[in-house]
Formats: sequence, C-alpha cells, structure tokens
Amino acid sequence: MILVTDDEKFTRTAVREALEAFGFATAEAETGPQAMARVEQLHPDLVLLDVVMPGDDGFTVCRALREQTTTRDLPIVMMTASQDDESIHQAFLAGATDFITKPVDLTLLGYRLRYLLRASGDLASMRDSQRQLSESQRLAQLGSWEWQPGSREIRFSPECARLFAIDEQTITENLLLSRVVPEDRSRLAEALSAARDEGTAFSLDHWIRLPDGTLRYLHSQGQVASVSNAGQFVLTGTCQDVTERRRVEEKIHHLAHYDPLTGLPNRLLFNEQLAYIIAYARRRRHQLALLFLDIDRFKAINDSFGHRTGDDLLRRVAERLKMTLRKTDFVARQVRDEFPQTVARLGGDEFSIWLPDIHEIQDVLKVLRRLKEIFREPFLLGDQEVFVSTSIGIALYPQDGADVETLLKNADTAMHHAKNEGRDTYRFYAGAMNSAARRLLTMEANLHRALEREELILHFQPQIELASGRICGAETLLRWHHQGKDLIMPNEFIPLAEESGLIDRLGEWTIRSACEQARRWQEEGLAPLQLSVNLSSRQFWKEHLTASVARSLAQTGLEPRWLHLEITESILMQNRAGTIATLQFLKELGVGIALDDFGTGYSSLSYLKQFPLDGLKIDQSFVHDLHHGRQSILIVRAIIALAHGLGLRVIAEGVENPQQLDRLRREGCDLVQGFLISRPLPAAEFADFLRNWQPEMLPSPPPRGALDSPAPLSPI
Ligand code: C2E
Ligand code: MG
Ligand code: MG
Repeated sequence: MILVTDDEKFTRTAVREALEAFGFATAEAETGPQAMARVEQLHPDLVLLDVVMPGDDGFTVCRALREQTTTRDLPIVMMTASQDDESIHQAFLAGATDFITKPVDLTLLGYRLRYLLRASGDLASMRDSQRQLSESQRLAQLGSWEWQPGSREIRFSPECARLFAIDEQTITENLLLSRVVPEDRSRLAEALSAARDEGTAFSLDHWIRLPDGTLRYLHSQGQVASVSNAGQFVLTGTCQDVTERRRVEEKIHHLAHYDPLTGLPNRLLFNEQLAYIIAYARRRRHQLALLFLDIDRFKAINDSFGHRTGDDLLRRVAERLKMTLRKTDFVARQVRDEFPQTVARLGGDEFSIWLPDIHEIQDVLKVLRRLKEIFREPFLLGDQEVFVSTSIGIALYPQDGADVETLLKNADTAMHHAKNEGRDTYRFYAGAMNSAARRLLTMEANLHRALEREELILHFQPQIELASGRICGAETLLRWHHQGKDLIMPNEFIPLAEESGLIDRLGEWTIRSACEQARRWQEEGLAPLQLSVNLSSRQFWKEHLTASVARSLAQTGLEPRWLHLEITESILMQNRAGTIATLQFLKELGVGIALDDFGTGYSSLSYLKQFPLDGLKIDQSFVHDLHHGRQSILIVRAIIALAHGLGLRVIAEGVENPQQLDRLRREGCDLVQGFLISRPLPAAEFADFLRNWQPEMLPSPPPRGALDSPAPLSPI
C-alpha cells in the first residue's frame, strides 16, 4: 500500500487514481501529523510525501519517520518542485529514498514506484540475512575476518571482535598475534605470512589468552577470497571458539586413557607409551625393564573388608608407587621428561611399571628394593592396619621380547612364577637373571658380615719415582677374602657397598687400616711411604668424612703427609662449592689428594685449577695404548703438560711393559705404578718387596727396534 501525502486535494486524487489504475492499494494524508498517524496505523509499503505543506513540511515528516525504528527503512519518495536543487538536496539530507518532481508524470509514476519497492524489498531481505548471519555467528561463536595484505589492519566481524575481546572492528597483525599464547604464536604467524605472501590457505587450532587471563581455544581458517586485476588478493577467514569441544575431547581422552580410581594411566595408554618407549630404546640401544606387579591375596581383602575398602587400598598403593618411582634417579632424564608417568594400573589389582635405560641388573634390583620398602609399612584400612605384599614379574627388553605384547606376556608369566614361589617376591622372566640377582643379593648380605668377620684385607701396589727409581708410595686396594675361599675384587663389591650404604663403614675401615699399616711399617724401620686410599664419591659427600680422616690420623699417630686420598672426576663435577671446602679442609690437615683415572671424565683445564689437588693419575687406558699409536702419546703428553702447568705430580697407572715405561719417562711423567713393577701385594709380601727393592731394578728401556715398539715419534 502507498500513502499519498499532499495538502492539495487535486494532486492527491490524481496520484491515487493513477496508482490504483496500476494495481497499487493507496491511502492518503493531508498534513504531516496526519501522515505520521496513518503510517503508524496502516504500515504502508511506501510513502509519497509532498515537500511544501502547511504546518510540518515534508522534510520534517521524513526526518521524524527516519527516527523511528519501525520506519527507519521505509521507502519515502519526496515530491519537489521541478528544478528546485535545494529541495532535492534537503530531501537527501532528511533521509528520503528518492524524489520525483512536480508536476508528477502520472504515467511513469507507477513504474518508478514499482522499481523502488523492488529495490527496497531486496535491501530489506539483505538486512535480514545479515542479521541472521550475525546472529548465527554469535550462536556458533564463529567470527569472520577480511584482510587486504598491504593494509596494516585486519577487519573483524562483531563476533570476531568479541572472541578476541577488542572494542574496534579492526586489529593489527601484531595485536592479533599477541593474543595468541606463546607456544602457538609462531605457527599462526607462519600460516598468516604464507597466506599473505603466497596465498596459501590455512586451517589450524590454537589457544588465545584474553586480557583478563581467560584462555580460549580457536579454530582459525583463512583463504584467498578474490584476486584483483592488479594481482592483489583479499584474504578472508573465520575464527571459531571451540574451547568447549576441546575440553570435552580432553575429558574423553582422559576417560579413555586414565584409570578413574587411581588416576594412573590405564592399559591403553600404557601400551601406547610402552610402544613408543620401545621404539626410543631401539634407536638408542637402551635396555628396558617391564615390571608386572600384583597384590597378593587382594581377593581376600576385598571379600573381608568390602569393595570400597579394596578400592581404597588400590588408591593408596598407587600413591605409594607414584611417590617411589618419582624418586627413581637413574631414569634417563630425557625420557623422564617425555614420559612423566612410569606406572600404570592395568586392571584389578595389577600394576605395571617400566624402567627405561637399564644398564645392569643392579638398576632393577634398586627399584625392587624400593618397591619392597613401600610395602613394609602397613596400610590403614578402616581402623585396621593391614600388611600387604606383592608378587612381581620382570621382563627385559630386548632379551625377553622386542614388542609390547611379548614383554607384557612374559612379565605376566614371570609374575605367576613369583606367586608360585610363595608370593611376596619377584622373578625375572629369564632364569639366568634370577640366579644373577640372587647372587648379588647373597653377596650383599655377606658383605654386611664381611666387616665383622674380618674378611676384608688391603693389598698394596708400589709407586716408583722415575727420576730416582725409589719406591715412594703405594696404592691400597681393597680385597674381600670371602669365607677364606674366593678373593673378590673391588669392582664387584664396591658398587654393592655403595648401593646398600655399607660404603661408609667400609671406607672408614680402609682409611683407618691404611693409617695403621703405614704407622706399623714406620715403626718396623721401613722407609716412610705415602699410602694412597681410594675414596668413593658416596663417601666423599658424607659430612663426617673429614672428621673420620682426622680421627684415623690422630688415633694411629700417622703424620698426615703420609696419607693420600684418590678421588674421581665425578666428585669434582658435582656440587662445586662443597667439594672445594672439603678438599681445602683435607689439604689444611696435611693430607695429599690425587685425581684418579684422569681422562675418563670431563674435567677441563680451567675446571681443574680451582681444586686444591696434589697429583693426577693418568688413566690406565691411555697408558695401555701408549705403544699402539700416536694419539695416546699426544694425549699423555698433553695431560702431563697440563698437570705440570698446574703444579701437580703425574702418576701413570697400569704400566705393564718396558716400552710404556720408557715412553712415560721420556714424556716427563713423575711416578709409575703397574704390573711391570709389581701386582698389588698383601702387606707382608709388600714389606718384603720394599726391603728388596733397588732403584736399578727398574726395567731399562728395550733396545731400539726390538719387540713391537713403533717408530719413535718426532717431537711436536
Ligand atoms: P683404581 O683406583 O684405578 O685402581 C687401579 C686398578 O688397576 C686396581 O684394580 C689395580 O689392581 C689395577 N692395576 C694396577 N696395575 C695394573 C696393571 O699394570 N695392569 C692392569 N690391567 N691393572 C692394573 P683393583 O684392585 O681391581 O681395583 C679396581 C678399582 O676399585 C680401583 O680402581 C678403585 O676405583 C676401586 N677400589 C679399590 N680399592 C678401593 C677402596 O678401598 N675404596 C674404594 N672406594 N674403591 C676402591
Ligand atoms: Mg686408585
Ligand atoms: Mg685408577
């Protein structure tokens, strides 16, 4: 319907007739206020409005209609006097849709209005769909953006602006990227620049952090929308808030991969991780251990205390397992960071643990010992304390299986063997491992008694000064004469002693015995000797080390300068401040300190000079290779130069033949020790050796060209 507004009756009637003849319904108004009232009442599709009317003129009415929300988009056509440019301009300013000039061309008017109505219909439906679009964008939390590379700013839709919590509808690339969390930033920046520079489409998920700290997970997409003739393109894209979806996915993932009762990884996740860790171990040639742990008589606990109590027990067992394994120190650091969880609940009362990077059976025994420890304390179930034990089966990678399935199956078999053995114990899948483990454990138990039974003895290996050919010292080397039969070498039992904590007493005994022996020989009239005692790093870190050294010296009355301590590079590498203080104390006491097995660790020159050392022992491996090649000679030469530069005495150990001795002499080494002169000897034999020794007995260099000596090396 068309509302015709004109104060002249003639015009109104003529226009209405013409329009009705065209098929339009019409109504009329004579004044401005009447037109306003009619509009409200009749909701016309279009208003024809005369400009010049008594009272409110057409402009006023037009403006008033535009101010109301219901008629903001209503098509209004103003009728102006012809050639009245000012009126046309005014009509435009007042918000008129179009104008026609008077006298009205009645034949054209119908067509004109029909066009206008069609255009305004299109406009209305466009507005509608825009509103719908933005409404659905809001509902879908989906924003769109447009970017003309070259322009600094990216245009955001209102929803996009809301997602990024910005007030404007434009954003710079930098501001946009600053909202993205640092971990995801470079990924998005790369995608944007590839889109900008090469027109590459992208689709990725990333986190953004809003100024109030809220995190949102967005799915962002972008592509080239159009390319101009000049080759300029426009990028458009969307950002959708998928935080909820992500949280749900995480929850599903958690439910699928973790045991709800204990919070530990379940069988599924465990198998996935294990497959990964096996692949990792294969690449690095590591050994793994897989432990299968089953609570003994869990069914009985469940039956007598009820399922809730049984669940409670499982939870507590899981907690203790987690706590203990977190402390496992030999777990390779890299692997530990990647796989923080090493324990899983496979179902029922079965738990599984993997240990990466096992070097020897002792590593497994260490964990087994800890596991036994955590079941030593009873569990409080209800108001009762209950002791719980476990049976453990162990399979090793690669020897007991190269894949997850085989390893699990074999660990399970081993666990059943442990159950059959009477529970509360463990079994390795491979029988040989069981006997090796048993041997170690028996040895550990025996070692505890070795001290009381006085089965430990010291052997002494002479150290000769090359310049004079004199014996000026000896290294004390520990031996274990087990039950009067086997002579067990230190490499076999020192690691056990360190592991079980016995090293303290053992070390103290060694220092004291060495002091007593040195003192006794002096009293017997032998020439005084420096006795070197080896120190374990475990011993070194004990606070009472210095006190115990001082006490041994005081009680035996040995002058401190006759005691030397041999320490390893590993001691220097850890805890530097503490090391220097301890070494300083020993030095002030008057005790000498030598660095043993030099060259096998990673000490550097600048590192060494901070420590108050007296001597440096070249590791046997370099001495051993001395007559095999130029490289060892160069290394030995460098070590000697380095040591002398620092004012240290150099001792070469493991000297086995005259060529080595000759080379060491020529390189300026100070002292030598090795089978060439003597094996380590029991005290009495050593004393005889000492009495019989003459400097001339030091083997002389072999004649040139004899034996297998290589061509002499020209000096460098
Ligand atoms: P180390 O301190 O480097 O001792 C040198 C080792 O080389 C000794 O082995 C010695 O018998 C051996 N040896 C000496 N001359 C030769 C030679 O010419 N050729 C060869 N192939 N070997 C030679 P042993 O007695 O078996 O001791 C092994 C390691 O056990 C020692 O290495 C030391 O680290 C440790 N150890 C020995 N006694 C003690 C001790 O009382 N306390 C501590 N904590 N560790 C000790
Ligand atoms: Mg030594
Ligand atoms: Mg050594």
